[in-house]
Amino acid sequence: MLRATNLTKEYPVRGGENVVQALAGVSLELGEGETLGIVGESGSGKSTLAKLLVRLEDPTSGTVELDGVDLTKLRGKALREQRQRIQMLFQDPYSSLNPRQRVGAILTEVLGVHRLAGDARGRARRVGELLELVGLDPRLAQRYPHELSGGQRQRVGIARALAVEPKVLLLDEPVSALDVSVRAEIMNLLDDLRRDLRLSYVFISHDVSMVRHISDRVAVLYLGRVVELGDWKSVLDQSAHPYTVALGAAVPVPDPTLAEPIHATVIGEVPDPANPPSGCPFHPRCPLAEDVCLRTEPKLLSLRPSHEVACHVAIRDAVPAA
Ligand code: SF4
Ligand code: MG
Repeated sequence: MLRATNLTKEYPVRGGENVVQALAGVSLELGEGETLGIVGESGSGKSTLAKLLVRLEDPTSGTVELDGVDLTKLRGKALREQRQRIQMLFQDPYSSLNPRQRVGAILTEVLGVHRLAGDARGRARRVGELLELVGLDPRLAQRYPHELSGGQRQRVGIARALAVEPKVLLLDEPVSALDVSVRAEIMNLLDDLRRDLRLSYVFISHDVSMVRHISDRVAVLYLGRVVELGDWKSVLDQSAHPYTVALGAAVPVPDPTLAEPIHATVIGEVPDPANPPSGCPFHPRCPLAEDVCLRTEPKLLSLRPSHEVACHVAIRDAVPAA
């Protein structure tokens, strides 16, 4: 359905000839009806990846294909048509909704721009349907965003994304700005919508527990690189990369003794992407680092079926002794 191949994004550093590599050769695939969770700290390249996947920005190199069509080569009308099929839901529903428009007008405008739902009457009916679809009373169409709760606003954001009948939703920290009490409701709504509308999701978060809740497969991003990738259960319950282990330690786990020692050692800062470490980008924070880690960047290699990891030590230790 959606395939990113070798995506790299470099930004020039102010004043100099140097560049910051926000993404360094990321390859990912998203199947129909699937949720791919992308987890990483701030500065890992999550937001850059989101912008490239929906073509809000161009990659420095690499491609993004939607159903075999390379989005990075499209311009104008063809791009707008493809973009309709992949919609982004933002973290903060408040800042992404026009405060001077009523909810009904916000949704009607989207339908109008994309020439959907026929005439004015058809659009009014569709606005009601969309609000019901996201569990809101259609009468809320008369309200302004500031008259709604945070959870209701995010439901409006979801309705707006769904208005154009996309195939793929890109969810960038969709519940992080919400009260803890409504997060589960929104997560469950997203789950239901995916099943009912046969959507595919890319779910981006720094919160492993959220990613665990919703993902079929998980990619762990560190300094613009995928360091671990595979089935969610394998990646999160049998994490092989020391960084994933450390991320998992940030949430309550059944056996807290498992990850504790490593977690304590990764509290250090994320390295400056303008000046990434040599070899493995995680080595300055890694409790398992060896000489080879300082010299050679590990490649993403298969650890077991449906589980890849970029770590010299994890790969070596996984090979049974001859
Ligand atoms: Fe740690 Fe080395 Fe693995 Fe990098 S390659 S995560 S430094 S053990
Ligand atoms: Mg970010």
